[in-house]
Amino acid sequence: MMIVVLKKNSTTEQRADLIEWIKSLGLDVHLSEGKFQTILGLIGDTASIDTELIEGLAIVEKVTRITEQFKKANRKFHDDDSVFDVGGAKIGDGNFMLIAGPCSVENEEQICEIAERVKKAGAHMLRGGAFKPRTSPYDFQGLHADGIELLLKAKKLTGLPIVTELMDISQLKYFDDVDVIQVGARNMQNMELLKALGRENKPVLLKRGLANTVKELLMSAEYIMAGGNEQVILCERGIRTFETATRNTLDISAVPVLQELSHLPVIIDPSHACGIARYVRPLTLAAAAAGANGIIVEVHNEPARALCDGPQSLTPDEFGDLVQSIEKVREAIL
Ligand code: PEP
Ligand code: MN
Repeated sequence: MMIVVLKKNSTTEQRADLIEWIKSLGLDVHLSEGKFQTILGLIGDTASIDTELIEGLAIVEKVTRITEQFKKANRKFHDDDSVFDVGGAKIGDGNFMLIAGPCSVENEEQICEIAERVKKAGAHMLRGGAFKPRTSPYDFQGLHADGIELLLKAKKLTGLPIVTELMDISQLKYFDDVDVIQVGARNMQNMELLKALGRENKPVLLKRGLANTVKELLMSAEYIMAGGNEQVILCERGIRTFETATRNTLDISAVPVLQELSHLPVIIDPSHACGIARYVRPLTLAAAAAGANGIIVEVHNEPARALCDGPQSLTPDEFGDLVQSIEKVREAIL
């Protein structure tokens, strides 16, 4: 549904032309002629109608979309929360998914030790980057396919399902045994990548872009879902604001807003949101209190020696304490 308000001085002929064109697009048109304003109600599937194109017409004053452009991700057409199974663990609805692990896979000993320790602390899934989108080309870029091999070793050792980032479609051949594919903040609007993931049959963890709105995040989820893959996990990981005290600003309001607009699970990444380990705990507890469906948090066995994002990484013990506190917060808001 869409509403088009026409300018006062539009002629009957101009209106008839516009109505004929809209009808040719397969839509019904309801005309309401008031004393001062004329309104067209466009009925039907307006998802593919370009509002800016209509707004640009000389006789049009304003266009308002009543039905959002995202359908598959929309709560309006899917009342119940979506719940996905990830290697036996559930995400969505009342389940709180704990994803933990280092920013990057560095070597076998590192990833296996972290995997064992976060599993013991209660994690449901192991994270670890193999293809890293670093800001500088001179920084550690990840171990690529070898990194995925090491993640699979840690998976075998602990039984934890794994999530890792795909930066380019050409890397998909290494992802056969990866349980959840991560789309990083920088790739949230890489539409070709999203389309390719729409053809996959496994959950996608879609991170919100640094400067993207909630609606844009939902439209990106829609890209994946429109291709047939409806298993999308939304992740708020902090957005760019004028504030410099933290790496980004955690948009905690994205949790209730996304959950209202969509049935998809919503998780928080407190690590990239603040960039400082000691703030990870309060942000995580805030996310749990706000009703998030889980967290993805960076944990390193030796944060001071991490090749990437050490300053924001928790130790496995700190992660263990955090898990206990999350439970308490969740019980308190039940
Ligand atoms: C990450 O999770 O390793 C990462 C690079 O995060 P983001 O895409 O949110 O910056
Ligand atoms: Mn990181």
